[in-house]
Amino acid sequence: MLILMKSNASEEQLRAVAARVSELGLTAHPLKSSARTVVGVTGDINGHDPAAFSSLPGVSRVMRLSVPFKLAAREFHEDDTVVNVSGVSIGAGQKLCVMAGPCSFESPDQVLAIARAVKAAGATLMRGGLFKPRTSPFSFQGLGKDGFKLMADVRRETGLRFVTEAMDEAGLELVDEHADMIQIGARNMQNFSLLKRAGKARKPVLLKRGMSATLEEWLTAADYVLSGGNRNVVLCERGIRTFATHTRNTLDLSAVPAVKELSHLPIIVDPSHGTGFRQYVPPMALAAVAAGADGIMVEVHNEPEKAKSDGGQSLYIEQFEALMKAIPAVAQAVGRAT
Ligand code: PEP
Ligand code: MN
Repeated sequence: MLILMKSNASEEQLRAVAARVSELGLTAHPLKSSARTVVGVTGDINGHDPAAFSSLPGVSRVMRLSVPFKLAAREFHEDDTVVNVSGVSIGAGQKLCVMAGPCSFESPDQVLAIARAVKAAGATLMRGGLFKPRTSPFSFQGLGKDGFKLMADVRRETGLRFVTEAMDEAGLELVDEHADMIQIGARNMQNFSLLKRAGKARKPVLLKRGMSATLEEWLTAADYVLSGGNRNVVLCERGIRTFATHTRNTLDLSAVPAVKELSHLPIIVDPSHGTGFRQYVPPMALAAVAAGADGIMVEVHNEPEKAKSDGGQSLYIEQFEALMKAIPAVAQAVGRAT
């Protein structure tokens, strides 16, 4: 439910409305945007009549939301959210954020070589998994917590910020402590206890879209993190399962404008997992820029043929450099900041 305040409503009237909401056992979210002041209401609103609020002083109108998600909804929060990842801003027309790196951290030499190269090419965040959600238990599972020291060393040398995946609550605690951004992978998009734990984290969350998640399910999953108190959520479109076999997943670029209509949260695109083949990654990365994505996440490897995971979809360093050089012209063509 959304309580729209009159344009001349006083602070006191706003506080009184919020107090009434709390008295009824619901949660009030006073939100001031450039154009209006509203009080979003969450909780079990069934059985609560909007009329109970419409007669309060300063209230203009009371509306029910037309979507099942709330804190993630643009109806709730009109202005674009900008997420700050250790000084890097993502969203609301800020500079395109490029996250690049290997699928998995494998060794100090590999991480350092890729970090230096992606930094020089213009990436601001480095990606790389320490805890890997592999389909088979016999596949490489990641370096685990030993990789955090490597992360710290590489951050010190390059200034890159790090985003890495947490697969469970214990891992999330470690990622929250040592990385700059916590990735929740496609396979865990509806792991509700993990989402709740992420809601208590200090670091921003990168929430990937589940393989067969609708936008409603995805944004409602984001509500779990937001409602825990962590308002720094970036969404990541990474392809969905369809009947198509020419790619690993079907990259749903229409999710970018659709999410921007439905939500105030920033959205980035991962064309690496979204296509599964390196030759398709640069064109789809450029298409994501044209579609309005706030950033891209790209797998890059110094020796993709030796990669322990996802070598076939990892760009060679020269390919990544060429992609970075191609981005500004596309961004300018659609009137975006570069
Ligand atoms: C990843 O980014 O390393 C990853 C496993 O991606 P996804 O969760 O999208 O499959
Ligand atoms: Mn991968």
